[in-house]
Amino acid sequence: MHDLLLIGKFPQLAQDMIDTEFRCHSLEDVNGNEALRTSVRGIITRSNCVVPPEVVASLPSLGIIATCGVGYDLIPLELAARRGVTVTNTPEVLNDAVAELCVGLLFALLRRIPQGDRFVRSGAWRQGAFPLAVSLAGKRVGIVGLGRIGKEVARRLEPFGVTLAYFGRADQHLAWRFEPDLRRLARDSDVLILCAPGGRATEHLVDAAVLDALGPNGYLVNIARGSVVHEDELIGALARGAIAGAALDVFDGEPDIDPRFFDLDNVVLAPHVGSATVETRQAMTRLALDNLHRFFDEGHALTPVKAAVAA
Ligand code: NAP
Repeated sequence: MHDLLLIGKFPQLAQDMIDTEFRCHSLEDVNGNEALRTSVRGIITRSNCVVPPEVVASLPSLGIIATCGVGYDLIPLELAARRGVTVTNTPEVLNDAVAELCVGLLFALLRRIPQGDRFVRSGAWRQGAFPLAVSLAGKRVGIVGLGRIGKEVARRLEPFGVTLAYFGRADQHLAWRFEPDLRRLARDSDVLILCAPGGRATEHLVDAAVLDALGPNGYLVNIARGSVVHEDELIGALARGAIAGAALDVFDGEPDIDPRFFDLDNVVLAPHVGSATVETRQAMTRLALDNLHRFFDEGHALTPVKAAVAA
C-alpha cells in the first residue's frame, strides 16, 4: 500500500474508499516523521483546499497530486510542472450534479423558493399572498465559460424556452450564439451564469461594469469560483438594486464568507455543493483513486491536468 498525504476533509464515504486502497497521513504526521516524508509519493486533496507550495517542495518522492474535483486553481501547477509532479483532477463525472444544482439555484432565485419556504414557516402567509416572482420562459441566458459543465447547463435550460448565448476565449461554432464581449453578453442577457474556471486569468472577470450591464432586471448565478466575481462590487450592486439578484454556490474565502451577504434578501446562498451528491462524490473519489493507481503502476495518469492551461 502506498503512503499518501491527505489535504482536506473528505466525506466519510469517500474517506472509507481511500483508506481501503491507500495509507493516508496528515500534514502533521508527515512533517514530524522524516522516513514518512520521504516515502510519500502522492497527495490526495479536494478542489476547495489549498495545496501549499512549500509542502509540494518538501516531499522528495512526490510524483502525483490527485484532486477530487475539476478545479485546480489552488494547486501550484507551475511548481508541480517544474518538479515533474503530475496533477490530476476528476472532470466529466461531476457535470450532471453541478448542472443540476445550477438549474436548481436559478429556479430558486427567480421563483424565490427559499423566501417562499420562510414565508410559509413564519406564518406570514396568513397576512397575505407571497409577492409575484419571475418566469424563466422567454428569458435570455448568457453562459460565461461554455465548457463541460456550461454545456450541460445549456442543454438542461434549452427545454425551458430560453435564448442562449455564451462568452469564452474562442467561438466554438455551436448552435448557441458566441459573444466575444462579456459586457455586451451581460447587456443582452436576463440571466448570466458563470461556469468558467477560477485562477488568475478569470479573477474579477465579473465586476461592476459587467453587473451594471446586466442591469436592474438581471440575475447572476455563480457555480464557478468566488474569484471570478469582484465580490465587493457584487454586494454593492445587489444592495443598490443595480442587479435584481444572485444565486451563489461559491465565494471568496469560503466557508468564512462576507457576512454582508446574510442581510441581502435578493440572494440565494449555497455552501459549495455543486458536486455534493452521494453518487457523484463516489464517482469522483473512484476517478481520483484510479488516477493514483494508474500513475503508481504505469507512470501516467488517466485525467492529468495540462500545465499549459493553468491560469
Ligand atoms: P472546462 O470544461 O474546462 O470549461 C471551462 C470553460 O471556461 C471553457 O469552455 C473555457 O472556454 C472557459 N474559459 C477558460 N478560461 C477562460 C477565460 N479566461 N475567460 C473566459 N472563459 C474561459 O471546465 P468544467 O469542467 O466545465 O468546469 C468549470 C469550472 O466549474 C471549474 O473550473 C470549477 O471551478 C467549477 N466547478 C464548480 C463546482 C461547484 O461545486 N460549484 C463543481 C465543479 C466545477 P474557452 O477555452 O473557449 O475560453
